[in-house]
Amino acid sequence: MQDNHLPTAELQALDAAHHMHPFTFGAELAEKGARIITRAKGVWLTDSEGEEILDAMAGLWCVNVGYGREELAEVAARQMKQLPFYNTFFQTSHVPAIMLAKKLAEIAPGDLNHVFFNGSGSDSNDTNLRMVRHYWDLKGQPERFNVISRWNGYHGSTMGGGSLGGMKGIHAQGGLPIPGIHHIDQPDWWSEGGDMSPEDFGLARAQQLEEKILELGPETVAAFIAEPVQGAGGVIVPPATYWPEIQRIVKKYDILLIVDEVITGFGRTGNWFGSETMGITPDIMTCAKGITSGYIPLGASIVSDKIAKVIDEGDEFAHGYTYSGHPVACAVALENIRLLEEEGIVERAGKEIAPYLKEKWEALVDHPLVGEARIVGLMGSIALTPNKATRAKFKAPGGTVGYICRERCFANNLVMRHVGDRMIISPPLTITKAEVDILIERARKSLDETLERINAEGLN
Ligand code: PMP
Repeated sequence: MQDNHLPTAELQALDAAHHMHPFTFGAELAEKGARIITRAKGVWLTDSEGEEILDAMAGLWCVNVGYGREELAEVAARQMKQLPFYNTFFQTSHVPAIMLAKKLAEIAPGDLNHVFFNGSGSDSNDTNLRMVRHYWDLKGQPERFNVISRWNGYHGSTMGGGSLGGMKGIHAQGGLPIPGIHHIDQPDWWSEGGDMSPEDFGLARAQQLEEKILELGPETVAAFIAEPVQGAGGVIVPPATYWPEIQRIVKKYDILLIVDEVITGFGRTGNWFGSETMGITPDIMTCAKGITSGYIPLGASIVSDKIAKVIDEGDEFAHGYTYSGHPVACAVALENIRLLEEEGIVERAGKEIAPYLKEKWEALVDHPLVGEARIVGLMGSIALTPNKATRAKFKAPGGTVGYICRERCFANNLVMRHVGDRMIISPPLTITKAEVDILIERARKSLDETLERINAEGLN
């Protein structure tokens, strides 16, 4: 199909003049000009200059079924014609919200059988925060107000989500964190493990949760929230000792466990949910992104029988969004889940593609710049370092080399993101083995070019 749009330079000028981008230094982008994506199919993006780019990030970790699935567009159009909007407030409901809630209860692990719909991952975590505090209030324990989360975790950028997250850059703007949120250290052995073994380090980091609970007073703690595998923090895979210990601690102190599956849900880690991959039993699961494969915004808090019973039997839960359970979004999510299930996309990703990608990805450690390569299912990271043995940092400020590498990837028509000096991937689950080969080949080329450049500039 021929694209019919203004010339790239004109689009870039308009973009700079009127469009404020998320997580972007606006003036810098205005000078450089945004890369403008015009269409996509499978794992391939096309830009306004006709370049074909392999999207190893599935957009923002969300396009699990790949781009260009007509079925999702058709379902959306059909639903828009039949019932484009109706709310779920005031004792009303509609078929797409009912059927999606039923389906999510079916596929979610354990007794997670109740769904509160939201618009995104961030506002789902805002819902969770208000819900757990309300839960304890209804249970006659209003002093259980504190929520514990982790430095370098990511839970969104709203006041609630941004506070729950442990990103110092987010906290620095707009008066975050809000009261009652407390952070413990992350299980990032590569950067922070020192001389400890990964196993001992995983235990020590999990035990910080117990220390924090005792410091605050167990009777004041409502919940702990974490991602099964940190995504935006750099695809940090915790040591195997970490989650069992966390699970032991939350159980001991009767603290609710909110597992943020915004990235790890819907097949990303090789199973339907990261909780299954990591052996976690959540009380609430946060979902977004892959729930619709990003085709339309939708978030969901999937809640246990225990919590839902208390919330439902209390008086009105004074919370909700106009678009909670939007019928078009719910219809698209249902169709997306049907594709993931009936086409065996989750199963194939876990059983066939994940082992193939793992072998190729982990082989990147033979590159002089790569210190460790970690991957779970289809989310992976490599740590760049000037010295593998000491896990050293570069002379240049943190993130400089990662940024150079990301720029080299982009120049080589590969979307790979950097978090500090880690490079991360999270491709559509539908990626083929041949496309994995292209991904790895372009990643290696970009790493070579990064090494050349940092050698030339003395950055290592
Ligand atoms: N939680 C996690 C784990 C995420 O990765 C993200 C987004 N990257 C969010 C929450 C926030 O989701 P959204 O951007 O849809 O608000």
